[in-house]
Amino acid sequence: MLNTDSKNKVSRLKFEPKIIPRSEHNISRSDISENALKVLYRLKTAGYKAYLVGGGVRDLLLNLKPKDFDVVTDARPEQIRELFRNCRLIGRRFRLAHIRYGNEIIEVSTFRAAHHVANGEGHIEDGRIIRDNVYGDIDDDAWRRDFTVNALFYNIEDFSIIDYVGGLNDIKTRQLRLIGNAEERYREDPVRMLRAVRFAAKLGFTLHPLTEQPLFELDNLLQDIPSARLFEEFMKLFMTGMALEIYHQLCRYGLFEHLFPETAHALAQDNEGYTHRLLDGVFANTDARIAEGKPVTPAFLIAALLWPSLVRLGEDYKSNGLAEMDAIQQASDAVISKQVSTIALPRRFTQVSREIWALQIRLKHRRGNRPLRLLSHPRFRAAYDFMLLRKQAGEELGDLAEWWTDFMEQNSHLLADPAAPTSIKTRRPRKRKRRFN
Ligand code: ATP
Ligand code: MG
Repeated sequence: MLNTDSKNKVSRLKFEPKIIPRSEHNISRSDISENALKVLYRLKTAGYKAYLVGGGVRDLLLNLKPKDFDVVTDARPEQIRELFRNCRLIGRRFRLAHIRYGNEIIEVSTFRAAHHVANGEGHIEDGRIIRDNVYGDIDDDAWRRDFTVNALFYNIEDFSIIDYVGGLNDIKTRQLRLIGNAEERYREDPVRMLRAVRFAAKLGFTLHPLTEQPLFELDNLLQDIPSARLFEEFMKLFMTGMALEIYHQLCRYGLFEHLFPETAHALAQDNEGYTHRLLDGVFANTDARIAEGKPVTPAFLIAALLWPSLVRLGEDYKSNGLAEMDAIQQASDAVISKQVSTIALPRRFTQVSREIWALQIRLKHRRGNRPLRLLSHPRFRAAYDFMLLRKQAGEELGDLAEWWTDFMEQNSHLLADPAAPTSIKTRRPRKRKRRFN
């Protein structure tokens, strides 16, 4: 049933939601984290509306384990803060509450309206959202979300699911569909293109044709995304277990070249297939490690992604008379500073990538006691793994890899932590200032 809502100055057709009672869906309270339930109930008891929303609801409907739980409410941020001692208000673009229970953070946000129903308060420039900090009702909040399957609400009042946008049907037919006009929604926020690729891969969904088509055409929009935001997306794209598939799809839509321009250039020049094999190898490797519960670091991935450009530039420097190690070091500086202008890779990662690269040179020196000294280098294992990756991709390394494998076996008692090849701490202490290269 359709009706118009006179409350909004910009009149807009509104849909009655579909409400699915508890008896007709599979989400049980025992699937929801205790802390999320605590938050929902406390809001409800205080007289506010409270819903679970987004990835948590979507994943539970698909019988997947949600990464985290997000809550929306009609309580304003200040009102939320009054209810929870462990609450911190964050966000410049849009204020929301983080409620912390040990390691778990429940994100609570107030219903928000999309800019175009926001009585002119929201603001669009070149089709992009500049500000979207305008409160709204639950239905406004549904329509401003990205994909239909991300816009389902689980109501703590009666445990029903509320669906304004046809998300349940898309869950059933396993398709990812943007809410509204796809091109407009991508223009408002081009990161949605990356999210489309990521969710399709993660959920095993197909992209609705109208959601897919613009991906081939709007790739240039990614150029204007701030590098810090692209870093966040980079982590979600490649460090959550579906990197290989996501990488292939990003290439297919022409999106990858906006994330790693120099790498895309190397791929385009790659006659022998070496770069393709190297990248397929490192993504497959990362996914496999995540599947086995082993630690992973983006430093290793960055090292591989930029390796072909690094080698080429290093060769140039060498032919201009620089010693090998100096050439690699200067090339490292150049390649990294170029990359961080696109994706703000923090220095704590790029520094490790540099070390992995420098060690590729040091691994070649097998005489005297140098190899023994290298074994205790904190990045030795990562560097050794990286060398194996290069070899697998078809790089001519003679018997170097076999030699090191034997050498490590003979001296296994000296290895720093043989079980943790790339186990570099990835969590940064809170509050420390981020340094980019
Ligand atoms: P996951 O956390 O598993 O990656 P998610 O769906 O929870 O998936 P989040 O990035 O945590 O994704 O965002 C939470 C919710 O916020 C989404 O489900 C969606 O409803 C909304 N959302 C997030 N980013 C956007 C965006 N760029 N445009 C519109 N809505 C968004
Ligand atoms: Mg989430």
